[in-house]
Amino acid sequence: MSKTLRIAVQSKGRLNEDTMHLLAETGIRIGTSKRTLLVAASNFPVEVLFLRDDDIPGTVADGTADIGVVGLNELEEQGADAEIVEKLGFGACRLSIAVPKQMDYNGITSLEGRRIATSYPSILRRYLQEKGVQADIHVISGSVEISTGIGLADAIFDIVSSGSTLVSNNLKEEDVVLQSEAVLIAHRKLDPEKNAVLQELLFRIRAVMGAVGKKYVLMNAPRESLDAILSVLPGIKSPTVMPLAQEDWCSIHTVLDEKRYWEIIGRLKEAGAQGILVLPVESMVL
Ligand code: ATP
Ligand code: MG
Repeated sequence: MSKTLRIAVQSKGRLNEDTMHLLAETGIRIGTSKRTLLVAASNFPVEVLFLRDDDIPGTVADGTADIGVVGLNELEEQGADAEIVEKLGFGACRLSIAVPKQMDYNGITSLEGRRIATSYPSILRRYLQEKGVQADIHVISGSVEISTGIGLADAIFDIVSSGSTLVSNNLKEEDVVLQSEAVLIAHRKLDPEKNAVLQELLFRIRAVMGAVGKKYVLMNAPRESLDAILSVLPGIKSPTVMPLAQEDWCSIHTVLDEKRYWEIIGRLKEAGAQGILVLPVESMVL
């Protein structure tokens, strides 16, 4: 019997749903009741500890949780000592300097001696130091984007994703300081048995992530069209080609990237493919 790996997950908020979805895709069954702080999986040696995202880096650093899922922005801000084992591809955002639209901004030196409002003072302090700029950091925990409008600050340093919040507050994004996404972090000195569970979990997570945006495509074609069809297909290795009961016909199977899918399907039809069938891919182990 393996030791149980405790994973810290945001209890509610932007990362909760994607994290729980990822765990579900790896085949791990976890009760969805969020009334309890700690929930064990029924078919895999993990338990989920639901926390505010602020508490996740520290909890993993001190070993109360073995691993956790948190935004890189939060991890960097806290400077917690935990290992990043995988970038998870969701929760994408960036930490940027933004200033009022009408301000004449010529790089971060324009903020010398000015006030910058933020919820990320450590990352901002490091950035300003690096650039040799002295500014007054004003820490607020939320609604940073309204700071300039109400005269609290001359500029802000905040999370941006689409940028629409900036626009509606009459701000323009200038310097991108950190590109962030959700990361899987681990305690530095993980017990070997727990590490073995982590490696199995990682194996599954990578297989699920490898399948994101992939489609399994099957089609039939006359043998004489085969070369034309194969030249259109960017298969992982080479596509599978199988004979059909009908003589001089074959079936071709391959995996396609969702992004190029429509373009390729059109070219396959032109090349003589028929009965093209497209299926979702749940996981892919390379
Ligand atoms: P908690 O209650 O757990 O402390 P929170 O309010 O601090 O939650 P959320 O707003 O749920 O945090 O955001 C969690 C993480 O989601 C952020 O730290 C960031 O990594 C990521 N994220 C992605 N896009 C955005 C966005 N547009 N705004 C804020 N966070 C985003
Ligand atoms: Mg938080």
